[in-house]
Amino acid sequence: MKRLYAKVIVDISHEKLDRPFTYIVPSKLLGVIEEGDRVQIPFGAGNKIISGYVIELTDKSEYDISKLKEIIDLEPKSVRADATLIKLASFIRKTYGSTQIQALKTVMPVKKTVKREVNKRVISRLDSQGLYSVLEQAEKKHKNAQARLIRELISYHDISYSFITGKMNVSAQAIAALEKNDVVSITCEEVYRNPIKIDHVEDVELNLSDEQRKIVDDVNSDIESGIRNTYLIHGITGSGKTEVYMRLIEDCLKRDKQAIMLIPEIALTYQNLTRFYARFGDSVSVIHSKMTQGERYDQFLKVKEGKVKIMIGPRSALFTPFENLGLIIIDEEHEGSYKAENMPKYHAREVAGKLAELTGASLILGSATPSIDSYYRAKNGEYKLYKLTQRLTGNTLPTVYVEDMREELKEGNKSVFSRHLHKLIEDRLEKHDQIMLFLNRRGVSGFVSCRECGEVIKCPHCDISLSYHRDGNLKCHYCGYERPFSSKCDKCGAEKVRGFRAGTQMIEDFVKKEFPYALVLRMDADSTKKQEDYETILSRFANREADILIGTQMIVKGHDFKGVTLVGVIAADMALNAEDYRAGERAFQQLVQASGRAGRGDNPGEVVIQTYQSEHYAVQYAASQDYEGFYEEEMSFRNLMMYPPAGNLLGVQIQGSEEARVKKLSTHLSELIDNLKSKEEISKIGPADASLSKKCDLYRRVIYIKSREYNHLIDIKDAIEKDVAELKLTKETVMFDFNPMNGF
Ligand code: ADP
Ligand code: ZN
Repeated sequence: MKRLYAKVIVDISHEKLDRPFTYIVPSKLLGVIEEGDRVQIPFGAGNKIISGYVIELTDKSEYDISKLKEIIDLEPKSVRADATLIKLASFIRKTYGSTQIQALKTVMPVKKTVKREVNKRVISRLDSQGLYSVLEQAEKKHKNAQARLIRELISYHDISYSFITGKMNVSAQAIAALEKNDVVSITCEEVYRNPIKIDHVEDVELNLSDEQRKIVDDVNSDIESGIRNTYLIHGITGSGKTEVYMRLIEDCLKRDKQAIMLIPEIALTYQNLTRFYARFGDSVSVIHSKMTQGERYDQFLKVKEGKVKIMIGPRSALFTPFENLGLIIIDEEHEGSYKAENMPKYHAREVAGKLAELTGASLILGSATPSIDSYYRAKNGEYKLYKLTQRLTGNTLPTVYVEDMREELKEGNKSVFSRHLHKLIEDRLEKHDQIMLFLNRRGVSGFVSCRECGEVIKCPHCDISLSYHRDGNLKCHYCGYERPFSSKCDKCGAEKVRGFRAGTQMIEDFVKKEFPYALVLRMDADSTKKQEDYETILSRFANREADILIGTQMIVKGHDFKGVTLVGVIAADMALNAEDYRAGERAFQQLVQASGRAGRGDNPGEVVIQTYQSEHYAVQYAASQDYEGFYEEEMSFRNLMMYPPAGNLLGVQIQGSEEARVKKLSTHLSELIDNLKSKEEISKIGPADASLSKKCDLYRRVIYIKSREYNHLIDIKDAIEKDVAELKLTKETVMFDFNPMNGF
């Protein structure tokens, strides 16, 4: 007879989390009991009755059955939030592949005895006038850090110490100097409060526009009729999405329910958060990745005590243990950071969908450039689609020019700037307007293209850019296809095929050479090692301490640079030709979002996109701000190649320190997949070297599997997990990535 066993953990908020106990499911509970249920069990030598959570149900027991005890019964009153999180962990484990413990640790912060941090705050002792005169002196003496803090104090009077030393990058010495001169006082509080305290910002309730009103009314009327839905708001930047979110949160709180709002970590800026604190006060809290497990646990205690009703944060905010969740909002839903980088590689949007289903909450997705995945679902009626088409601040969208760098070359211009961009930069410097120069660069883009005709060398099987390797070959990182590099172009015959490399440092050097009198700030991985550097650079630019900001990742909501009237995209080609199937989508999003940075103030903006592929559909549609057109064309490519969302893609990565063993294992798994697949349903690509074939001294190989059905891919994942467990590998790891966002 088939018997069912349950793995039960006794205390989920404890370090013992990683010790499940196996129990027999009594016949009366067969088919009734679910993962996540709270149960009564006899425990220990004395068989004391205690309660625990079922984290997994299985058919087989790893232990001697005669020694196992039986579950007594279901606990009548389950703690709902915890049960939900365990169900979510189980969903994550099954859908993305990981161990039980990895999945549980993803959703639950473990209680750790960390020293409780006292909350230090810095409070101004002077009024604004006093602060202004101190500011003047500090500026004269070039005490930049002090000046930065004082400027902030003029607006906010009372700021958390850690925020100042952290995000604002002001040293403890600088604060101490101000304390000594009686400019500020430092106070300590016992409890951990909100990371940012804003107590005197005026909140303005706006009259919703017709477009905004329709969304709010529709969602509320669904909720009141007991209909749970997912809504996608496609609204250009500045069209009032955030105002819609805030209204919906208000209504959610009125129903005595709680709300979670995800925003990308990079957008957790003072400017963005202020609006929420101003409206919701202390019922808002924020989590971010720099918090320790213990701090997160403290936050969640406040949630359990009912003090916090709105949680804002990056993807992990999803796991806030609200008892009565009513609303989940995902802003900038297209952002790649919603996908976890480590196992389990879950996508926050999908997990949010499951969470909404488990709790009955409504799910709102918003973006100026929705992901192809979400738009596809909206078109198919799975999500309700809404559009916000007007900028509510009155300013207009910028004018976009596309400059073809092939033409520049023909005319003898070898600079990184087209003549048009050069002229516009000069013009803005003269007017003292600000300029952003954007270098679309990610990963190790090693694509090659012809400078004469723009042809990019691609894989004949995967339609993905090939990348140049030091051994002189061009390789496909999906299927492993290889061919020797040749500088002669297949299409036009010119000897002009080259690799494409440009860095922000190089651009900075160029700018300094061509515009020696311009003040330049640079923002890239080197200059922003810490998150606070990043915030500092942005606020310096916002304070007009520079004319030109050069950067790789400046597409940030919550930083309106009113002085910027010109945005230049130096080389769209970097993004267009990234070696994965989402390259076009990401390029389009980046170009549109970068364009949105121009003309946020009173003066209209201009945008110059430079590229060797001016005819590329992503460039063309971005220039005309035509999302629909882009979507249609991108979907026809995805359909043709069966890439998501037309199909599903599973990436399997094999990693280890010995190259030969990694190769052997990848071949072995590849054969395993061949034996599993019924050829109609799935297709296998690879094995091949990963695009970063060696990272931190680990060799990496990948296999991709495509299928129309997600479930077929889960079956393959399960089979590989089982096989790998039996192999008892100690030197290699195998990782899964479903519908990858960033490639391996
Ligand atoms: P998004 O989130 O789409 O970028 P926001 O909600 O931040 O847009 O709104 C952009 C600007 O428009 C903000 O300054 C906001 O205060 C303003 N705004 C939003 N809704 C309205 C409205 N109904 N009437 C007037 N101004 C509005
Ligand atoms: Zn290929």
